[in-house]
Amino acid sequence: MSDAELSELPESHPRYLSLRTRHRIEEGVEKGITSKQGLIAEGRGEAFDYLLGERTLPTADDAARAAAAHLLLARHPVISVNGNVAALVPEDVVELAAVVDADVEVNLFNRTDERMQAIVDHLREHGAGEVKGLNGDARIPGLDHKRAVVDADGIGDADVVLVPLEDGDRAEALAAVGKTEIVVDLNPLSRSAQTATVPIVDNIVRALPNITTHARDLAGRPREELEAVVETFDTAGALAEAESAIRGGRLESDAESDPRTNGERK
Ligand code: ATP
Ligand code: MG
Repeated sequence: MSDAELSELPESHPRYLSLRTRHRIEEGVEKGITSKQGLIAEGRGEAFDYLLGERTLPTADDAARAAAAHLLLARHPVISVNGNVAALVPEDVVELAAVVDADVEVNLFNRTDERMQAIVDHLREHGAGEVKGLNGDARIPGLDHKRAVVDADGIGDADVVLVPLEDGDRAEALAAVGKTEIVVDLNPLSRSAQTATVPIVDNIVRALPNITTHARDLAGRPREELEAVVETFDTAGALAEAESAIRGGRLESDAESDPRTNGERK
């Protein structure tokens, strides 16, 4: 879809948000920040989101709150950014990083110097200060050389890492070195979601601003209160609830809030 076509699409179009999101990924590919595999990943995500009714489940909101608490409690939190994340939510990454005082690090499955630099530049255009990832002077054990590359003073040193839309191997390897891992992934059955300390089964375009809202709300609260938010989050329950929402197709009863029908479905 071209810019012109998108600008003519009325906001009331039942697929407006989904088409706008897709357009950002297309632009990301054109700008050299999103890979072709990223296009496929977007398609998979869209299918899950459609089945969820393109809404944030209450359990995904709980997960976002637990994620905010983890990030605030962390000694060194890092937000990992790949080509899809950079294309979809660059401003939201910068904002969340500021609110929880996290580092931002570019980390790619298919690492090339050009794409690394293009993403760093893109994030800086959207207000980022320092962006890590270009040094690549440390490795995560358990992954082949190229995919293991991280910054020693970034993800290498982090205790809590937010890794949206991450591949399953990477997610497992990060968890294996003892880092607290927060994942955003619309597929509750993906290995990334299954390995995470906190899986947020939601579209990243909703999840990131939601974590920021919770972080603003929780900032400045006593540690014990943040620890209680972390401890009461039910990981297995959240995954089960997301899976049952996707498989169960409770869309009819939710027609009023269903963005695909604008409440018009009979
Ligand atoms: P795994 O190796 O973890 O089992 P995978 O190989 O299925 O997973 P990929 O296709 O590499 O996963 O990664 C894309 C994942 O990101 C998919 O699970 C997809 O549902 C999810 N995804 C894609 N777009 C979004 C989005 N906008 N928001 C949240 N999740 C998304
Ligand atoms: Mg995955």
